[in-house]
Amino acid sequence: MPIGVLALQGDFREHLEVLSKLNAEAIPVRTAEELSICNGLIIPGGESTVIEKLADMYSLTSPIKKAIADGMPVFGTCAGLILLANEIVDGIPGQKGFGGLDISVRRNAFGNQLDSFETELAFEGIDGAPVRAAFIRAPIVERVGTGVQVLSTLADETIVAVKSGNILGIAFHPEISGEHRVHQFFIEMVRPVSFSPTRESSRIIR
Ligand code: GLN
Repeated sequence: MPIGVLALQGDFREHLEVLSKLNAEAIPVRTAEELSICNGLIIPGGESTVIEKLADMYSLTSPIKKAIADGMPVFGTCAGLILLANEIVDGIPGQKGFGGLDISVRRNAFGNQLDSFETELAFEGIDGAPVRAAFIRAPIVERVGTGVQVLSTLADETIVAVKSGNILGIAFHPEISGEHRVHQFFIEMVRPVSFSPTRESSRIIR
């Protein structure tokens, strides 16, 4: 079963490219039917408010929420992280995303002055050279609930990567800085699960 990349808006093509370079089968997802044949989902960066509206229009909001609740491995980057947060600070009125991660996320947290930047990060679970990370009008994680693991912070301890169960969320874009190891980390999350939304019993619990 392939990994799906939500392909409504944002840089989904770059994610598909990284997955193909890592020899992982991947498809763009625009319908509930496409989602149903995937065993993992990437929610790309872009504009969280637009992705949320398009997901509603494409009748994908409920299927995505259900897949997350059923244990499908999901990886959100930047806008994707915002969409996976249970609480969004500085969202537009009514913005609620898909939820799933017990965190508070602040949109556009770096303001105008430090709108975009690249840096290197230590990342729990990724050894060797630091992770090359591009931040573009990025959010930050302001609160993590119990059971949420912090995987990476900036030098000032601002949280920029978290994992909770089947959900991985990062504030930055590895897919545009030639950094493939965070995707590899996600592929390892997908592999043991063998997720099937219609057959819960096929899930291998580790
Ligand atoms: N600021 C964007 C938002 O609120 C996220 C930016 C990004 O994904 N690079 O959705």
